[in-house]
Amino acid sequence: MRMPALFVGHGSPMNAIEENEFHLGWRNIAARCPKPKAVLCVSAHWETLGVSVTAAERPEAIHDFYGFPKALFDVQYPAPGDPELAARAAGLLPASMDAARGLDHGTWSVLCAMYPDADVPVVQVSLDTQRPGPWHYALARELAGLREEGVLLLGSGNIVHNLRMLDWGRPEGFEWAERFNDEVKRRILACEHQELAAWHMLGAESRAAIPTPEHYLPLLYTLAWRQPGEALEFFNDRTVMGSICMTSLLLGGS
Ligand code: ZN
Repeated sequence: MRMPALFVGHGSPMNAIEENEFHLGWRNIAARCPKPKAVLCVSAHWETLGVSVTAAERPEAIHDFYGFPKALFDVQYPAPGDPELAARAAGLLPASMDAARGLDHGTWSVLCAMYPDADVPVVQVSLDTQRPGPWHYALARELAGLREEGVLLLGSGNIVHNLRMLDWGRPEGFEWAERFNDEVKRRILACEHQELAAWHMLGAESRAAIPTPEHYLPLLYTLAWRQPGEALEFFNDRTVMGSICMTSLLLGGS
């Protein structure tokens, strides 16, 4: 049986410990999907030159943020690694193995809602952000077959992610951010993957929505994992604080 695949807008790391609509949305999606043998995650928060895969038996949770409450720094996510899956992914891509690297918050903030018992092994794949969109899309294709082996493939980023323009007091999105989110969703539904991989061409809003590519790129991975005609569903479809879009995507759910 083919496992579903996901793109998740992760937003603020506080979503890990606040039982808000996004946290509950992730929990709900996990409850609807069969429990995977392992999760393989491509997160915005691990950028490298060349591609690496986490190969630690016990990857630690990396607290890669500043200025948040102690409770967030106290969060551990002791899910085991899966060196065998890491070696398999490294061979498919190809990529190098990193036995020291842990899990960044783009991964654990989402998984601690989805699998709070930390009983599903996790492997992360890094982003070589020097590479263009179509390169990432083609690379991601090499991993798609892992869905047939009980692995949940997860992209974790944000379709709109502009921290400089953030308005903490604003519950909804700026108009341009909502427009860009709608445009990306429309193109996802139309299967315009090549256009989405060339995001610079998606109109004036793309410069504000994607000032740097790392939060957008994981979406291209998830799109590359989609089988032709496969069921697709948006969830957590909201833009917050002006310029963070939480819109998430489930492939192959029932
Ligand atoms: Zn992030």
